[in-house]
Amino acid sequence: MTAQSLDGSQVAEQILAEVKSGVEQLRRETGVTPTLATLLVGDDPASQVYIKRKIKTCAGIGIVSRHERLPADTSAAQALACIHRFNRDPDVHGILLQLPLPAGLDADALTAAIDPAKDVDGFHPINMGCLALGRPRLVPCTPAGIIELLVRSGVALRGRRAVVAGRSNIVGKPVGLLLLQRDATVTYCHSKTADLPGVCRQADILIAAIGRPGMITADYVAPGAVVVDVGINAIGDAAELRRIVGDSESHWQQFQKKGSALAGDVEWASVREKASAVTPVPGGVGPLTIAMLMKNTLQACLARVKGGL
Ligand code: NAD
Repeated sequence: MTAQSLDGSQVAEQILAEVKSGVEQLRRETGVTPTLATLLVGDDPASQVYIKRKIKTCAGIGIVSRHERLPADTSAAQALACIHRFNRDPDVHGILLQLPLPAGLDADALTAAIDPAKDVDGFHPINMGCLALGRPRLVPCTPAGIIELLVRSGVALRGRRAVVAGRSNIVGKPVGLLLLQRDATVTYCHSKTADLPGVCRQADILIAAIGRPGMITADYVAPGAVVVDVGINAIGDAAELRRIVGDSESHWQQFQKKGSALAGDVEWASVREKASAVTPVPGGVGPLTIAMLMKNTLQACLARVKGGL
């Protein structure tokens, strides 16, 4: 069996088109345009690329963006002052603090300073708490995107066994909570889990969010399972890339051009012969993260204008 590839780019485009028409409707009806404020501290090159992409996506669907960039030696008080300014500004509906932060700044403390009603990343303790209580408000973007991808691809969740490998607050924990809310039977795994392959093989739906290139081999996958690969890893070693992606043309083209190629936590070449569906990397979960950020920004704005989040 060769697994179906779950096309995240296509689903992300659908969602962006929906958000765009929601933004137009809101502006027509109320004159309000959703506005996303982004804060980047320091010079991390990957963060700069991510922020640029977010700003460009906003522009493409009619969301206004405001960008604040602070130097790497910014103090906690200066970063807090910026967040408080965005919190107070009635024209700002969503606030995104780009992570990771330079050493010396406490991401948890700064995240907790964001107004929960503007917390479009969904990481504020109040929003995470609401999610845990089964009353989600603003939900973390990558986990929300994974659910959209599964549901819109016709993958049933109710009553199915879902195994989440990885328990981070950004991906693993919230995606497990969202699966639970959709009536899946959820098992969390992590670095201390005994017999990880055996537990993963019980999954109808396996979510790999570990950050270890190609760790999830066919041995971790039950025949016919749906496998979601959240990992994003740059692979600079040709033998390692061959093990993970086999002869995938797009990966080798990227490798030849840049000297490395992106691959996930799943050994795609072997897993696609056993699973019924797999998300590719890139082009699987990745594009949904930004799409859900846009959706959250519209949701936060709607709640501000029409009331109730
Ligand atoms: P993290 O490092 O915060 O968490 C990794 C988790 O994996 C931990 O809970 C840890 O217990 C578990 N883990 C580590 N080694 C393990 C092992 N050997 N066996 C079992 N479990 C193990 O990472 P994260 O922020 O959750 O990200 C995970 C991956 O997803 C990374 O590759 C990251 O780049 C990617 N990511 C992608 C997106 C996207 O938009 N597609 C968004 C966020 C993160």
